[in-house]
Amino acid sequence: SLDISAGLRTNAARVPGRTAITIGDRKITYGELGDRLNRVTNAAAAAGLETGANAAIIAGNEPEYFEIVGGVSATGAAIATINPRQTESELSAILEDCDARLVFTDQANAEKVKSASQAPVIVIGDEHDNWISKASAAPPSQLPDEWQTFAIPYTSGTTGRPKGVCLPHRSRVMVFLVSAAVYRCFGEGDNFLVTTPLFHGGGFAYPMASLFLGGSVELMEKYTPELLYECFADGRHTGTFVVPTQLHSMFEMPESRLEKLSNHRLTSMICNAAPLPEETKLATLRWFGETSLHETYGSTEGGVITNLYPHEMRLKQNCAGRPIPGQQVKLLDDSGAAVAPGEIGELFSTGPTLFNGYLNRPEETEASMRDGWFSAGDLAWADEEGFFHIVDRKKDMILSGGVNIYPRDIEEILYALPGVAEAAVVGVPDPRWGEAVCAFLRPSGDPPDPEWVISQCRDRMAPHKVPKSVQFVEAIPRNAAGKVLKKDLRAQWEAKA
Ligand code: ATP
Repeated sequence: SLDISAGLRTNAARVPGRTAITIGDRKITYGELGDRLNRVTNAAAAAGLETGANAAIIAGNEPEYFEIVGGVSATGAAIATINPRQTESELSAILEDCDARLVFTDQANAEKVKSASQAPVIVIGDEHDNWISKASAAPPSQLPDEWQTFAIPYTSGTTGRPKGVCLPHRSRVMVFLVSAAVYRCFGEGDNFLVTTPLFHGGGFAYPMASLFLGGSVELMEKYTPELLYECFADGRHTGTFVVPTQLHSMFEMPESRLEKLSNHRLTSMICNAAPLPEETKLATLRWFGETSLHETYGSTEGGVITNLYPHEMRLKQNCAGRPIPGQQVKLLDDSGAAVAPGEIGELFSTGPTLFNGYLNRPEETEASMRDGWFSAGDLAWADEEGFFHIVDRKKDMILSGGVNIYPRDIEEILYALPGVAEAAVVGVPDPRWGEAVCAFLRPSGDPPDPEWVISQCRDRMAPHKVPKSVQFVEAIPRNAAGKVLKKDLRAQWEAKA
């Protein structure tokens, strides 16, 4: 069976003394991890978790995350992985949606989660340790079916209310194996740095791939751009997953300090979850060299879909590469016909890493699929060599004067202007044009003159794309995965209008 925890158990028997997880001074060996994982399975089964039932975890990046997700899912039950930053009422709604029978949390969120949950709550730390210490460490006699949902990450809700994405064991094991071939940073001798939240699909899949395949995982105790820089300058990691904004924030440090980044030992720096601005990509190549950066396109629902390899970085601009082994990708117009190279269409993919559907939302599952192919609502074009260029999310497209405008094109130009640290473009209601282009900018120092920004845009883009208004903000709102919250920006604009 392709059970996600199978690799951990094999490694516990094969290399029990090897370090599996590090956080600060604490180290957990594969032997300990295997023992704790089996105890979680047995304790969870005794608590009534079985195929068809769900549990939930609402926690930060605790080392116990892996034994809890792996251990619970080995009972056949699934576990919802939920962003702890949500409010109590949002958490209650999600716990009700997935009908969680047992909830895990950490000390920091215990109070809120206990108020939000109808089901018993186990707090990571002494309570969790006591709970598993009473259970047997014997491995499960029967493993779940590979098509069984093992985890239900909730989407961040950037395009609507959060949806539970049902991921089968099989799809994630395929992500582990294919990622191992593409990124080569999850095996013996590798040390994978975790910088993003484990409740997020990609944030969990890559470190879990390391534990499945015998590598070592290091969790940052706390994330700041400064601490991330220190990790790289220290040169003790061979792989990591970052979102573009993390790289961007690091490059705002003084240039004299950035030179130390050349000490890194990364075989692979996997970058995805949001468009990687060319500006940030070029800075990454400058400071990290040309051999480690991968730009990947994927989604929680579809898995890892395309990848642009380090040696392709300079050959292609704004490009998320070609399908990785096992994935098929096509671009369709609204009538369902394939578009020609160079033309923009909606990206559909199919392959072994696909989800099982959204929890309790058959209509939304159906709306996202076409004949077994999934669309996350992204628009893209392919060049003659079959490289995919992600244009934007369909929902973020601006329709101005009957013409489609893709914010990312404009954002790319704004990012390259002096004095602009970050840029996000949205469409706002306009009586004459239907929608008008509005640019939100975070300046790197004193804000430039908005008229100057607009005149720079006039020199660099077609007239209909030039922002009608420019607003300076202290921070561009982003979700935990680094995605710009465009609906918040639209609301900000409306509040001012
Ligand atoms: P929701 O569906 O609620 O918006 P989400 O945005 O958190 O949730 P994820 O599965 O985390 O969902 O993100 C997938 C999306 O991230 C893709 O559909 C795409 O829009 C964007 N994305 C991922 N990689 C890239 C990339 N390399 N370039 C551009 N966009 C990307």
